[in-house]
Amino acid sequence: MRVKCVLCDAIKKIDDETSLAKRLRNRPIHTFMCDECHSRITVKTKKHLASESFKLYRTMEKNELF
Ligand SMILES: [Zn+2]
Repeated sequence: MRVKCVLCDAIKKIDDETSLAKRLRNRPIHTFMCDECHSRITVKTKKHLASESFKLYRTMEKNELF
């Protein structure tokens, strides 16, 4: 089946037998994201989490000092 990426509108072909294809068929509202966008978002999320934990670490450090 053909699916459209919600982020970049790229049309991708996915195998009808994959669990993803079955999910998209059963629930058309379920959104598809292509590999490129998926990895982009994963990288962003990881970076975001890294900066969050860095801030947390700095705060803890300060609390210990003062
Ligand atoms: Zn995409």
